[in-house]
Amino acid sequence: MDYSKYLQCPDCQESGLYCVKHRREVEANLRKREISKVLKIRNIGSPQYVHAIRGLLESYSVWDAN
Ligand SMILES: [Zn+2]
Repeated sequence: MDYSKYLQCPDCQESGLYCVKHRREVEANLRKREISKVLKIRNIGSPQYVHAIRGLLESYSVWDAN
């Protein structure tokens, strides 16, 4: 992922992290990565799978709260 555009964005610089627009972008990318990780788990009855799904759901509620 290319982060240089965030470093150059004045809004990102001002917020010290990501501006609203770029945060959405970064979050969408993270979600995609998490989902593809979950999809690679073959045994959907495994604790690993349950853990991954739970983590994904939690990340959604955290992000939506902000
Ligand atoms: Zn920005």
